[in-house]
Amino acid sequence: MVDCGEGAQVQLRRSGLSFEKLGHIFITHLHGDHCFGLIGIISTFGLLGRIATLHIHAPEELRPMLQAQLDMFFNYDIGYKVEFHGVDTKKQQVIYEDRSLTVETIPLNHRMPCAGYLFREKPSLPHIRREMIDLYNIPVSQINNIKSGQGYTLSDGTLIPHEKLVTPADAPRSYAYCSDTRYMPELHKMVKGVNTLYHESTYAQDKKDGAEKYYHSTAQQAAMVARDAQAGKLLLGHYSARYNDETVLLKEAQEIFPNTYLTDEMKVFDV
Ligand SMILES: [Zn+2]
Ligand SMILES: [Zn+2]
Repeated sequence: MVDCGEGAQVQLRRSGLSFEKLGHIFITHLHGDHCFGLIGIISTFGLLGRIATLHIHAPEELRPMLQAQLDMFFNYDIGYKVEFHGVDTKKQQVIYEDRSLTVETIPLNHRMPCAGYLFREKPSLPHIRREMIDLYNIPVSQINNIKSGQGYTLSDGTLIPHEKLVTPADAPRSYAYCSDTRYMPELHKMVKGVNTLYHESTYAQDKKDGAEKYYHSTAQQAAMVARDAQAGKLLLGHYSARYNDETVLLKEAQEIFPNTYLTDEMKVFDV
């Protein structure tokens, strides 16, 4: 989960996603709309009997506040471990890695320390062609060798090349989440070639000065980052309440980067 505003646990429940599968929460910064839901979700997980450790990645400033809340409300007894990982919001670096993906920080420019997150899938192995395995009667013990690049030699000495036995792996996907931030002309370098870029778009062009002043971005500025990064698609969000209809934001962004979409609660996008 990236950010955890008030109401996050209600929406998580509505989404039908499994609470147990949530192992890591990445917080961008300490404004309420990004972290006020955290203690509620931690509490609910305890009531539901969670036992797996929950990892919180967030700017260091959250550590004492979260610890104080945990001590006060739960007296160390919520039945599972909450492990805090302080994030340096000033540099881009890998802060998490497992078998299938890495997570990098993206330093942003906001009124307080703030980092976005870049999720990169690791390259996966090619897919085995079941029908070829059956055709040549290849034993299961050879599958891993074939997946990692080898061919297979038949008993009469014929070599079946690797390429005939597999279909290519899916291209690794990447997703960058950038909220909240002033327009950063250099940001595109940190998210170069990303498949899907989420970039805040609090304002339309009529409030360009306000965006600068309050450390937020316009939809066009988000689109400029997507264009310069050669992103696959751009998702807008974090709209100012002044816009009853966000279509104006979408239109302004699409003038610069056509493959742009408006995000909304419960809307699902492919990465
Ligand atoms: Zn903020
Ligand atoms: Zn915000």
